[in-house]
Amino acid sequence: MKRAALVAIGLIFLVACSREGGGLRFASVGTGSVTGVYYQVGQAIMAVMNERTAETGLKVTAEATGGSVANINAILAGDMVMGISQADSMFHAYQGQGEWRDKGPQTALRVVCSLHAEAITVVVAEASGIQALTDVRGKTINIGNPGSGQRQNALDIFQSLGIDSERDFRAEGLKASEAPKILQDGQIDGFFYTVGHPAAAILEATSGRRPVRFVPIDGKADFLEKFPYYVPVAVPVACYPNAVNREDVPTIGMLATLVTSAAVDEETVYQLTKGILENLDRIRERHEAFRGLDARNMAGQGAIIPRHPGAERYYREAGLLN
Ligand code: GLU
Repeated sequence: MKRAALVAIGLIFLVACSREGGGLRFASVGTGSVTGVYYQVGQAIMAVMNERTAETGLKVTAEATGGSVANINAILAGDMVMGISQADSMFHAYQGQGEWRDKGPQTALRVVCSLHAEAITVVVAEASGIQALTDVRGKTINIGNPGSGQRQNALDIFQSLGIDSERDFRAEGLKASEAPKILQDGQIDGFFYTVGHPAAAILEATSGRRPVRFVPIDGKADFLEKFPYYVPVAVPVACYPNAVNREDVPTIGMLATLVTSAAVDEETVYQLTKGILENLDRIRERHEAFRGLDARNMAGQGAIIPRHPGAERYYREAGLLN
């Protein structure tokens, strides 16, 4: 009797020790600029996960970063556990295309789930006279910082239109969070931001004294056909009442996805996937862009690269895979 009690105490002690001495795992989630939507996703994930730390042993932090490309590279370098990425950037990295053409296929990259939809959003000053993308010749356009997802989108689009981004216009490489102010100050004529709507940065850009409009990216059939991760979407003008446009603006979009590395342990990814999917109601409430999140879609739609086994385990357990 006495002996059994002692063994039990010893066990409790051991468990407590292992929790303290490294039992608590830290997981950083890479997001984007603070005025984008990724940052909001990261905050939502952090909030729902850190309520369950006692149960999962996992402490989550969401960090502001340069965006998709920066997140993927940080994950692959082992500096971050997870990150948010555009589906196209994720696909490019895995296949060794676009940004990763020189480095080659990043086959350790894994998808966890898909998230909200994003739209390649082109915002210009009305005074610039730009009505269509072909009007950018001779203008100054912020195509985005090198770690962002929008940069490659802008380059792909201009290339498909036969516009040389080194010669035909002045391409700036600033962060999306800086673009609204410099657009309003008149230092640039427009900027690209691939983002979910509504986004604080776009609200800021359309709320200044300088009138601002969205430029459509016509659903170029060949473009959509060539890149399977692109879908036709529209910028909802109701989100931005001060923009010049009166109707939703057609453009191209893709899903945002949550990605990780094959090197991250199964239990961590399992707990994160479970924590996110089982708290979707609360995540949906945090931002309008998350309203449409659906567990079954999130489990299935992002799988254009291999899924992490921790996510797979949760989806099978929850019966979310067909
Ligand atoms: N799609 C952007 C990027 O990959 C980030 C958008 C956001 O932060 O919501 O850089």
